Amino acid sequence: MSSTESRGTTDPSIPAAPAEEWIFSERPEHPEEACGVFAVYAPGQDVARLTYFGLHALQHRGQESAGIAVGDRETVTVTKNLGLVSKVFKESDLDSLTGDVAIGHTRYSTTGASTSWENAQPHLSAIGTQMIALAHNGNLVNTTELRDSLKDRGVRFRSTTDSEVIATLVGHFTQAHAHIREGIRETMKLIRGAYAVVISTEEAVYAFRDPYGIRPLVLGKLADDAGWVVSSETCGLDIVGAEFVRDVAPGEMLKISALGLEVEQAVPAQKPSLCIFEFVYFARPDSLMYDCTLYEARRQMGAFLAKEAAVEADMVMGVPDSGVPAAVGYAQASGIPFGEGLVKNRYVGRTFISPSQYLRQQGIRLKLNPLKHAIAGKRLIVVDDSIVRGNTSRKLVQLLRDAGAAEVHMRITSPPVVWPCFYGIDTDTQEQLIGSSHSVEEVRDYIGADSLAYLSLGALVASTGTEKSEFCCACFDGEYPVAIPESVRHGKLALEPGCG
Ligand code: AMP
Repeated sequence: MSSTESRGTTDPSIPAAPAEEWIFSERPEHPEEACGVFAVYAPGQDVARLTYFGLHALQHRGQESAGIAVGDRETVTVTKNLGLVSKVFKESDLDSLTGDVAIGHTRYSTTGASTSWENAQPHLSAIGTQMIALAHNGNLVNTTELRDSLKDRGVRFRSTTDSEVIATLVGHFTQAHAHIREGIRETMKLIRGAYAVVISTEEAVYAFRDPYGIRPLVLGKLADDAGWVVSSETCGLDIVGAEFVRDVAPGEMLKISALGLEVEQAVPAQKPSLCIFEFVYFARPDSLMYDCTLYEARRQMGAFLAKEAAVEADMVMGVPDSGVPAAVGYAQASGIPFGEGLVKNRYVGRTFISPSQYLRQQGIRLKLNPLKHAIAGKRLIVVDDSIVRGNTSRKLVQLLRDAGAAEVHMRITSPPVVWPCFYGIDTDTQEQLIGSSHSVEEVRDYIGADSLAYLSLGALVASTGTEKSEFCCACFDGEYPVAIPESVRHGKLALEPGCG
C-alpha cells in the first residue's frame, strides 16, 4: 500500500518521523479549532469534487486551511494547504484525486494556535500497511492525561493536537484488536470532550460523534442511491444534492463501505449537549439543527428581543450575517421598519495578506461598510449575535455614529458570554470576556451605545424550539457537560463555575 500527502501541488512527500524524533510537547493553551468536516462514500462518482463543494458550503466554519483525502481501494491521498477552499484546490488537484471515498476539512484556528501547514487536516497516518485519513471538529479536554497514561503503554504522539491523538489512538487500538471499528470504539471510550470525526480508509468511511453530541454531524443520502454523505451541517448535504437522513447520534459510529451503511452505538449516549452557540453564531442560517432552520431560530431570537427589550427607533438593522435574520424578527415583532445599514465585504476573509498599518487602523471597515444614506439622522436598533470581548461592538457603534446615526441601540441575540469554551468555539479566557467582569451598563458605556440589551437564556432556548436540557449552554451559564480537568482549566477560568 502507498500513500501521498501534498501541500497543494508543491510538496508531495510525507515527512517520515523516525521513532526517536517523536515529540511530547504541551497542549496549546487555547482551543485549536471549530471546524467543518465532510465525508462521502460514492463509488463511480467524482468524490473529490463532491467533497470540494461540500467544503465550500462549510467554509464559514473555518478559513485557515482546507484539505481533501481520497481512498481509491489501493491508497489514501491527501491534498491540503493553508487558505480558503477556492485557493487550496485547483482543477488539476481534483482531477488527480479519484476514488470511491473522500473526506474533507476546513479548519478554524483560534487565537494562540499556530498557523502551520502541519495543523491542516485531514491528518494522514498508517496502521501497519493500512492508511487512514482523519478530520476532526471539536476539542478534547483530556489530551494531556491520555498522553501521559498511554505513553507507558508504548503509544507515541508526534504532537499534542487533538486530531493526531485520536488518529494515534485509533491506530494503536486497531492494531491491538485487528479491526478499525474496534479501534474507534476503544478510542471513544477514552477520549473526552467534543468530537465529530470522519475517517477515510482505502475503501470505507467512518464517522463518529462524542456521547454528548456537542458538535453537529449529519448523515445524508445522494440521489439515485449513488452513495452517502456525512457533513458538519445540512448545508453541506444540500450543495451536493444529498437528502438529509438524520443526525449522527451522540456516541454513535457509522461505517459506510461496499457493505452499505452499518451503525453501532459505540459508547453510551450521555445528556444531549449540542452547542447552543451553533444556533447563535456559528452555523449557517440555511442549516437545520434539531428540526429547526437556523434562519427561523434567529428570526425568533429577534422577535423575543423586541418583547424583552423594546425601544423607540426609526429603523432595525442587523449586523451581517448572523444578525440579519434576527433583525427581521425584531422588526416584524415591533413594527419598526427593517432596513439594511451595513454591507459586508464577503471576500476579504482570511487572506494571509496582512493589511498595512493604515488599513489596520481602518479596522472593521475592511469587513463592514455603512450605507450612509440609510443611516444618517436615524435612531437605529442594531441587532448582533454576541458580545465576546466587546471590541467589535465598540468599533461598530463608532462606525454608525460616524455615518450619521442619531442613536444606536444595540440588541444582542444571546446572553452575556461569561464562561470560556473548552469544546471548540473560540471564546477566549474568562478575563477577556467582557461579560464576565462588567455589568450590562458598564458594557454599554464601553461600546458607546445609547442602550444595550441581551436576550435572556430562556428566550434564546425557546427560539430553537428545543428544551434547554438538549444543549450545552456553558458559555452562558458555566454548566460544562464534560468535566474540565485542572490542567485544561488553568489559565482560562478566573472564576469557578457556580460562583459567576
Ligand atoms: P467581540 O465582542 O469583539 O469579541 O466580537 C464579537 C463578534 O464576533 C460577534 O458579533 C460575532 O459575530 C463574532 N464572534 C462571536 N464568537 C466568535 C468566535 N468564536 N469566533 C469568531 N467570531 C466570533
